[in-house]
Amino acid sequence: MCKKYFSWIVIICISVFCQITNATTRPNLILVLTDDQGYADVGFNGSNDIKTPNIDRIALEGARFTNGYVTYAVCGPSRAGLLTGRYQGRFGFGRNPVVDPNDQNAGLALSEKMISEVLAAKEYKSGIIGKWHMGTHPSFRPNNRDFDYFYGFLSGGHQYFPELLTVKDIYHAKKDWSWYDTKILENNRQVETKKYLTDEFSDKAVAFIENNSHQPFFLYLAYNAPHTPLQATDEYLDRNSHIKNKKRRTYAAMITAVDDGVGRVLDTLNKLNIADNTIVFFLSDNGGAESQNASDNGPLRGQKGSYFEGGVRVPFAVRWPAKIPADITYNYPVSSMDILATIAGVTEAPIDKSRPLDGVNLIPYLLGENLTPPHPVLYWRNFDQGTLAMRNGNMKVIDSAKSGQHLYNLRIDLEEKSNLSQDNPNAYNLLFQQLQTWEKQLIDPVFRPLQGFSNSPEKHQPKPSKQQENIYQLVWQDEFDCVGRLNEKYWGYESGFVRNQELQWYQSDNAFCRDGLLIIEGRRESKRNPYFNPTEDDWRKSRKSIDYTSASVTTKGKLSWLYGRFEVRAKISAKAGLWPAIWFLGELGKWPSKGEIDLMEYYRGMILANAAWGASQPAKPVWDAVKIPLSEFNNPNWDKRFHIWRMDWDESSIKLYVDDKLLNEIDLTTTINPDGVNPRNPFLQPHYLILNLAIGGSQGGDPANTSFPSNYEIDYVRVYQKKSNR
Ligand code: CA
Repeated sequence: MCKKYFSWIVIICISVFCQITNATTRPNLILVLTDDQGYADVGFNGSNDIKTPNIDRIALEGARFTNGYVTYAVCGPSRAGLLTGRYQGRFGFGRNPVVDPNDQNAGLALSEKMISEVLAAKEYKSGIIGKWHMGTHPSFRPNNRDFDYFYGFLSGGHQYFPELLTVKDIYHAKKDWSWYDTKILENNRQVETKKYLTDEFSDKAVAFIENNSHQPFFLYLAYNAPHTPLQATDEYLDRNSHIKNKKRRTYAAMITAVDDGVGRVLDTLNKLNIADNTIVFFLSDNGGAESQNASDNGPLRGQKGSYFEGGVRVPFAVRWPAKIPADITYNYPVSSMDILATIAGVTEAPIDKSRPLDGVNLIPYLLGENLTPPHPVLYWRNFDQGTLAMRNGNMKVIDSAKSGQHLYNLRIDLEEKSNLSQDNPNAYNLLFQQLQTWEKQLIDPVFRPLQGFSNSPEKHQPKPSKQQENIYQLVWQDEFDCVGRLNEKYWGYESGFVRNQELQWYQSDNAFCRDGLLIIEGRRESKRNPYFNPTEDDWRKSRKSIDYTSASVTTKGKLSWLYGRFEVRAKISAKAGLWPAIWFLGELGKWPSKGEIDLMEYYRGMILANAAWGASQPAKPVWDAVKIPLSEFNNPNWDKRFHIWRMDWDESSIKLYVDDKLLNEIDLTTTINPDGVNPRNPFLQPHYLILNLAIGGSQGGDPANTSFPSNYEIDYVRVYQKKSNR
């Protein structure tokens, strides 16, 4: 009798223990993400006009983060940081990707692990409902990232009403932004939706929970609301009739729809008796886009896209009844990257050691077991705008190519009104050095930015149409209408013996303006090498004499450009031993990984058009080179005339022409430096220009029988850029 009683106790204990174990080691995870919602636009952050009673349940029954941050101030990169628990700049997701289902680079690197992939090791079922934005090429889509279920759309935004979804799929989106009109996908299949999109997503979220409640699951409920276009049903508008401003009312109505959906999700957890066992996070992917969607970031300065607090501090809360006490207000900075770290910490899911998380498990902090700040420092970078930002304790640093240096003390200046950088240069510099050290760990974006659309038929036309011509505007030119010396604002000179064992000694004397031309004069003249030293191995010093002189002029340190149309009208002299060139080098990095573009080189009877970047062996280039014998131009006096060399360079390709004849097209998806070398793709950075006349050397041939002086003449250099780039 006694023995039997004892065994019942054991069984009951095991049963209770199992429940506790399951709740605390493999809880369900629901991540509710909204899009462009303002910091102040939730009840738990004090919204007066927008009611969010259901979203507030998460905060009131759990923890509200007053200093919750995302890793970027717009959608795509922020989501890449959120889903990987890592600063997205580490793997090149440093901008919104181009929407191009044919682009195999434009997505979240397959080498990285998303929450779904981390949890797959713990046998979670994962679903994403809503906006994806992590790549449209099939290899990047949710079902290839361990999401067992996908219901939503691939691009960065979408129409909300079913009658507006008129484009079959992303391959049929023929103009920019028509990807907002595509049919909704259920896994890889297009479906006909019937409801307002936010309601449609809420329905599917409830169904996903119901279908998966028997095992641990991860639901990523990524509402595109309240991102533009501002569209809401009459029912949701009526419930916000107290808001007079129509734009704000529509925005509020979109949030009401989300809040209803969150309520249905939480009620479903209650109904299935799994609420205790489920961690629910709520946050927005970036600050409110106040000027676009009438959102409100409250006291925070700036908005979506900005590195003031209004761009990156978001409404953020978590609930986990089994573990986290109710009604916590947590004030230390936390990050969207902490969500993956938290669930990985709780489940002990393995993390790839070569890709350590930047997020931290928040549970010990929320339980009061760890009283230190989870993130003493948080960092941000906008690669395209040249902005770096950091929060170190209460100090906030922003270094912007556009607006300069900023330093704020958020403890006393939440609104970032009082810039302390001028009065505290030492403090600023110290913090900025720390920020730069972090930036060195990042790589350049690995894909083209969101603009233009390569599905459009214009792309493959060999010659730009008139319409395309009109999109360029002249941004810089030198017509060489000077007298004598070149304009020092634009041009500097290389000097001495420089490279390739060339015979000429470069000196500024040999470059001058005459009759509206830049003349680079190759001379045969004998001088003593001022650096001559017979014991030296370096060829620059072991040569006793100088036999030839010439010039090399460059915009290095003065002017550089990223993308555009470059035209150089020039006349070369095709004599033996001469090696004239029009070429560009990347601003950052070492040769060849910094990138070299040879719009024109001539030597040994050949015209060349090339690009070079880094190979796997250090200091070795990979060449994409074209050599064309001068004889192919069918004119024995070809080099007695001026020709126009042109480069058309954008995010996807570099095209090199002479007189409108395409000589070489370099596909920039192929110009990738070896792993770990910065920049990863040299041709996505600014380059400066070099015009020079080399003589002899490794390629130039033998000038012994050539008459001198021999001139290389340049009529003009003109640089155009697309209006949309400026
Ligand atoms: Ca967004």
